[in-house]
Amino acid sequence: MGENIAILGLGTMGAGMATNLLKAGFSLSVYNRTAAKAQALIDAGARFASTPAEAAKDASAIISMLADDAASREVWLGKDGALDAVREGAILIESSTVSPGWVAEFARLAEQHGAELLDAPVTGSRTQAEAGQLSFLVGGKDTALAAATPVLKAMSKEIVHLGPVGSGAKMKLINNFLCGVQVASLAEGLAWIERSGLDRDKALSVLKAGAPGSPLLAAISARMANQTYTVNFLLKLMTKDLLYAQNEAAQCDVDLKTAEVARSLFETAIEQGFGDKDMASVIEPMRKKVVHQT
Ligand code: NAP
Repeated sequence: MGENIAILGLGTMGAGMATNLLKAGFSLSVYNRTAAKAQALIDAGARFASTPAEAAKDASAIISMLADDAASREVWLGKDGALDAVREGAILIESSTVSPGWVAEFARLAEQHGAELLDAPVTGSRTQAEAGQLSFLVGGKDTALAAATPVLKAMSKEIVHLGPVGSGAKMKLINNFLCGVQVASLAEGLAWIERSGLDRDKALSVLKAGAPGSPLLAAISARMANQTYTVNFLLKLMTKDLLYAQNEAAQCDVDLKTAEVARSLFETAIEQGFGDKDMASVIEPMRKKVVHQT
């Protein structure tokens, strides 16, 4: 794999990933819709690209880390989009959590442009992105993954090859379906604990040490309890993931009823102004709810 690589999207995750690519010695072009977010990376040695096409044109690998299907389509296919500028043989690495339907379409378009697509969404959040400790869930050809491995390694602790293109996107939605449902049920459980008269910290210790305990429960319960909503994972993005998961499972004739309920709780939080806060704030509407006593 040649030296020049590009990253499109410098949000919570993309910024940390880009920092680790620079640390690993790659020559990096960066693009972000809101240009100001690129400044710290330019100061650290990245080249600023004012359009996705400019970022992509000399790169042997181009990573995108964008909000959703619409953002990915815009950056790859929109005005001055990256796809028309990619060079023959480039590896395109879609790390955003997007729908497998878009990945399939994107893979066909990539091939028409002489490029290979890997869908490589990640698990881990802001801290893991900053520490280069993400896990990549990859779909795509062995040869493309072998070529991209040095790039992915610079950002991760683990690379799991799940199968042909689209496999990473599917796995990621299953993963986030389970995460979203757990966060929603934790919010209800904690709202209940807070009104029950139990000692909150003792109750959370029991849950963390017991069968429901998980890394997610430990991290999110602390943020919910302390009302620390600095963004690790935007609430509106988890809402998107649950919707994509429902749509994808429906293609396999599976009705994600728990995702439907969880998503309705996230939607309520969005209606109450928490969409751009951390997903832990899904508990806030439950705290505000007036309890009518008979
Ligand atoms: P984020 O902070 O909201 O960043 C989103 C990025 O997408 C920004 O660069 C944003 O540009 C860009 N964008 C959004 N809409 C756009 C549009 N219409 N056209 C062009 N650019 C657009 O999100 P994030 O937390 O980094 O997440 C990125 C992806 O990774 C998402 O798919 C998310 O579901 C997934 N993910 C997140 C986490 C996490 O813990 N945060 C973990 C795993 C996976 P601006 O800066 O201009 O808004």
